[in-house]
Amino acid sequence: MKRGRRARGCQPIELSKRQETILRIVKDEGPITGEQIAEKLNLTRATLRPDLAILTMSGFLDARPRVGYFYSGKTGNQLLGEHLRKLSVKEYKSVPVVCQEETSVYDAICTMFLEDVGTLFVVREGGILTGVVSRKDLLKSSMGTRDLSSIPVGVIMTRMPNIVSCELDESLLEAASKLIRNQVDALPVVKDAESGDGVEVVGRITKTTITKAFVELGGGEAV
Ligand code: ADP
Repeated sequence: MKRGRRARGCQPIELSKRQETILRIVKDEGPITGEQIAEKLNLTRATLRPDLAILTMSGFLDARPRVGYFYSGKTGNQLLGEHLRKLSVKEYKSVPVVCQEETSVYDAICTMFLEDVGTLFVVREGGILTGVVSRKDLLKSSMGTRDLSSIPVGVIMTRMPNIVSCELDESLLEAASKLIRNQVDALPVVKDAESGDGVEVVGRITKTTITKAFVELGGGEAV
């Protein structure tokens, strides 16, 4: 059920020595044309083209026709922040693992192990969200000698409307803030149910999702 690594091709860029030099020239002398920069570096305009493309695409430089290149004034951190705010829940969500209110605590524990997740979303017919059950909810109900097969998840879960969720078009950053603010490990991704009654679970965002995005942004491989 877990999603594999996806190449998104959107990591922040580490600049080469030549790109750093171009940036310095444009900072000091911009607006400046590509030919003028090439002249200063004793290179041809064609040689510089990929560097200039990278610098404009990554937001360090702006280019105006018939004016030339000028420095955008944005620091690496500002550009990273802009980039971060563009990551969406839709792009990063993983598959939700669900159970029903009637599912026993015993079966819910088995599902967590089998699916290798820490949170189950509880749904009724049509995938409509009714609650959330976490590892500690299950641990708590396992203390004592009660028969775990006879306790339904419905009596131990956190119930709607007290569920914090997120939507497909929300930013990943906003979802991460919700995880932190509400001190929970996972958010169901929801959309309004077609019946008009409640919300349907269409995905999941967890602290692991955020960690994976962080690793990708740093240029590492999020497996
Ligand atoms: P754990 O209990 O394993 O530490 P959480 O910190 O996610 O995991 O859960 C803490 C409590 O918050 C649990 O009682 C759980 O039912 C509830 N909970 C978990 N996720 C949510 C959520 N998205 N919205 C509301 N409550 C939640």
